[in-house]
Amino acid sequence: MNAIQQKYFPGIRVQIPFHANEIRAGRGKFGNLGRSTRENLFEDLFNMIKNSVFPKTIAFSTILNITKATSSPTEDLSTVFSDVASRFNLFLTRGYRRGPKNKGMIIIDHSNEDKYMEFFQGYRDNGTQYGDIRNIVDIPYFASGKDTRMIQLADLCAYAVFRQYEHGDSAYFNYIEKKFDRRGGRGPIDGLKHMTKEDCKCIACTSRL
Ligand SMILES: [Zn+2]
Repeated sequence: MNAIQQKYFPGIRVQIPFHANEIRAGRGKFGNLGRSTRENLFEDLFNMIKNSVFPKTIAFSTILNITKATSSPTEDLSTVFSDVASRFNLFLTRGYRRGPKNKGMIIIDHSNEDKYMEFFQGYRDNGTQYGDIRNIVDIPYFASGKDTRMIQLADLCAYAVFRQYEHGDSAYFNYIEKKFDRRGGRGPIDGLKHMTKEDCKCIACTSRL
């Protein structure tokens, strides 16, 4: 990512955070880049993710179709966070069988800390834990996406997934599709889950038929 920054912002030594929405809208540091240059920047970033070698970069994502008028944003966040945490745990469990005994750690973008703390408090009050997370360090950590390239990578992946599922735009999703955790060539895509009651033909739903 630093090399990509040097290509588009030569001479700037301080780290420029790559935030998908800012690149798309041409805001902040990206205001001086024309539309086609920003498209090229997206392509370079997603190619970098695509070309990273397994298991260096593995993606996990959960998409929730919100149809119930009764659910609250906190409930929805809890649902998708618990699900994505259990997918990460499943990946670690498979690693345990192969040999390496690594624990996982979850790092969340600091800008969403308030929303997360609200539902973590609910779990603490009930003495329960979110999802199946036996192989994950139980306290999530918060870091600023401005300082952390890994959170910027996660933001890019979330953006690609959002464009695919909200707008049917697969331009960026196609780059990251192979990065989701999966059990061999024919197994379900464990790292990608679409929670919907509709009959859906997406790769996440059809891989579980
Ligand atoms: Zn689906």
